[in-house]
Amino acid sequence: MPPLIVFGNFIFTADPQTFVCKEHAYLVIENGIVLQLVDELPERFLGLPVLDYSKDLIIPGFCDLHTHAPQYVQCGLGYDEELIPWLMKYTFPLESRFSDLEFAEGCYREFLRALWRSGTTRASVFGTMHLDTTLMLYDLFAHSGLGGFIGKVNMDRNSIPELTETTEDSLRDTEKFLSRTLGRNDLVAPILTPRFVPSTTRELMRELGHIADTYNLPIQSHVSENRAEVAWVRELHPEIETFSEVYEAYGLLRPEKTILAHAIYLTEKERVLLTERKIFLAHCPLSNINMRSGIMPLRDYMNRDMRLGIGSDVAGSHRLDIMSSISGCCQQSNLRFLDHQEEIPVTLSEAFYLATKGGGKFFGRVGSFETGYDADFLVIGLEKENPMLPRTLEEKLSQFLYSADTSRIMKRFVRGREIACPT
Ligand SMILES: [Zn+2]
Repeated sequence: MPPLIVFGNFIFTADPQTFVCKEHAYLVIENGIVLQLVDELPERFLGLPVLDYSKDLIIPGFCDLHTHAPQYVQCGLGYDEELIPWLMKYTFPLESRFSDLEFAEGCYREFLRALWRSGTTRASVFGTMHLDTTLMLYDLFAHSGLGGFIGKVNMDRNSIPELTETTEDSLRDTEKFLSRTLGRNDLVAPILTPRFVPSTTRELMRELGHIADTYNLPIQSHVSENRAEVAWVRELHPEIETFSEVYEAYGLLRPEKTILAHAIYLTEKERVLLTERKIFLAHCPLSNINMRSGIMPLRDYMNRDMRLGIGSDVAGSHRLDIMSSISGCCQQSNLRFLDHQEEIPVTLSEAFYLATKGGGKFFGRVGSFETGYDADFLVIGLEKENPMLPRTLEEKLSQFLYSADTSRIMKRFVRGREIACPT
């Protein structure tokens, strides 16, 4: 395959502090990987066909570190409840319907189209506990050309009867899920998905820890999202001091391979532990507000150099697009600052970094236009410029992000390949 040349106006974050802007530059892509981003096209590439997006903005694709595919159809519902009653009243009854193949297929296709529309090119996704329909989600996702991780949820306690597995079934179906998905696709892989501590017995967590070790698997779950939830975990595991240490006790904190979503009420001890273990935290600002969960002390976590990314957390959140979570991230950081003046609010470039290169690290070399990164990018159509009011690239990006106008995303590429809307 000859190199692919993309001409346009690029903006990205190599580090959290600054936007790198390259106007009228060339992105050279070889076998789906960024070879270089240059102002002048080197002679050896002259004559190759060029994708000309000279009037447009080109940014890395968004990475969603935490979302729930079955819940997309429930966006915008039930935010008069906090987490635990919301799960019992709305989410568990909905997820129990995913035993039905026809119902699941309609919902999952709708989710994938929305994910594509949103400009999310990589995502770490929860299915439900059901083997067959989570396999269907995996197949649809692999077929879409988008990248990510798909998890069959494990839950053998504290749910409604229609959405509870036995420990044996949970483990058997997890093994089956792995046998049908591991190593099948370059871009989409399975991820172990114990829902959260209250949903999984000691035996199930212990065995999942062993399976993770055996196959060297990634893991995703939730931690410290809501005060009542944290208290419940203490009640269920009085022998263990903190929520995070329950995961630690069962081998579920795998360095650079575990994502924990929310992480709002971490104790000092947990912050140290999760930093040492190189655990990815998925910041889910919109869900944290909708469910009255709280505001993550993001600046403190950034100061500690924790691994961080952004999660849409649909349907605790009402928006699947990561742009809405980027602005939500900045707004909540502002609010947090009012009562915590030592925690400087995050900047737009920092939030953008979390949504691209920060979370992208979980998927490999993803989320930047530096050499060696996967060529995942979006082409954003710019509005006609007012000659009396010219804007810099950074200003154009800022207005696009705050508008969260997904209709302006004209093209999506993953590893150098254009992705069409899933059907
Ligand atoms: Zn979640």
